This record gives sequence, structure tokens and C-alpha cells, in this order.
Amino acid sequence: MIGCCFVVKDGDAVLMRSSEPGKPSYVARVEAIETDARGSHAKVRVRWYYRPEESIGGRRQFHGAKEVFLSDHFDFQSADTIEGKCKVHSFSSYTKLDSVGNDDFFCRFEYNSATGAFDPDRVAVFCKCEMPYNPDDLMVQCEECSEWFHPSCIGTTIEEAKKLDNFYCEECSPQQQNLHNSNSTSKNRDAKVNGKRSLEVTKSKIKHTKRPG
Ligand SMILES: [Zn+2]
Ligand SMILES: [Zn+2]
Repeated sequence: MIGCCFVVKDGDAVLMRSSEPGKPSYVARVEAIETDARGSHAKVRVRWYYRPEESIGGRRQFHGAKEVFLSDHFDFQSADTIEGKCKVHSFSSYTKLDSVGNDDFFCRFEYNSATGAFDPDRVAVFCKCEMPYNPDDLMVQCEECSEWFHPSCIGTTIEEAKKLDNFYCEECSPQQQNLHNSNSTSKNRDAKVNGKRSLEVTKSKIKHTKRPG
């Protein structure tokens, strides 16, 4: 199917015009394209990506600005509402992008639009604040225990953190170990970091979001 300046095929991620003026475009995955006998009036079967604010639990601190959830919500839409193509990256490939464009998104959860449940329903947490990783937030890694920290949670700024060549967290820094005369071994710390620290991401707050169709 050919638009004004882009070609859309099954499996592509697309931006679709919102039915409410002023709202950001919807993100969807094209599942199938249907045209009538004359090749006009194309309809597309789409699978919606939800933005965090459209989910039952709402946007949470660890959700990235470009995060979307692959929902179980399918629809038929007129092909005219397609504004253009976009890219929905995996979480890890998104974090490796050199620069994030307007049409770059990432998805790490599938979302059940009826129950508000996420798959996976738990996600690893980091830092003293025990939050999942938000790729928009800079984090620094401890050279010793490999744990990740937010600059603000370790009493520094993003600018200062960017200048750090080596970072040792409170527990691993040599000064701190001398102070405490270290009675905890590094083995214990490894267990803590690699252990199943995670956050349950499915929250059931009732909030309904309207979708077109
Ligand atoms: Zn933190
Ligand atoms: Zn450490």
C-alpha cells in the first residue's frame, strides 16, 4: 500500500491520526491491509500500542517518554488515518540508539487492555530507590558491584555524574569500608544485586481510556 511518500506493509509500526484534536498520534502495528475490488478505500487491521497514560495504571516514574505497550486491542482503521511510519524498538536496542528521533519508540511490555495487566508482570529494579530502569534517566554503574544508581539518589548531579571516570557506590567505596571496618563481604553484595529484586508492574486503578472505533 502506497501513501504519499511511504509504503506500509504488514508488521510495520505506524503513527495514526488521533480522533481528538491536539492529542499525540496513536502508535499501531499494521496486522493486515484490505482494499476493495477497485483498490481504493483501503482499511488496515491494526494492533494498538498504548502509551503509559492510556493504561489503567497510568504513567509511572520509570516509564520512558517514548515507551509504548503492545496491547491486545485490535481495530479496523481507514488507511487515510496513517500519518507515517515509525519504529518500535526493543528495550535493549532503544537504549543503544545514538539519537532518538520523533518516530522512535520502545516496547518492553505487552498490555492487557481489559485487566490492565502487563507481561512480563515484574521488572528488575535498580538503585537505592528500587525503581525499574527508565532509559530517559542517566544512571551510573558501580565498578565494584555493578549496581546502577541515579545521580540524585547518590547526592550528585547529572553533570557531575557524566564526568565520573570510575564510580564506587557507598557500600563499595574504600572510605566507607574503612569506616565500617567492613564486616559484609563482596559475596553478599553480589547476591543482593543479582537476586530477584523486581517490581510488580500491574496496578489496578480504574481509569478508562477511549480509543477510536
Ligand atoms: Zn534512584
Ligand atoms: Zn557498589
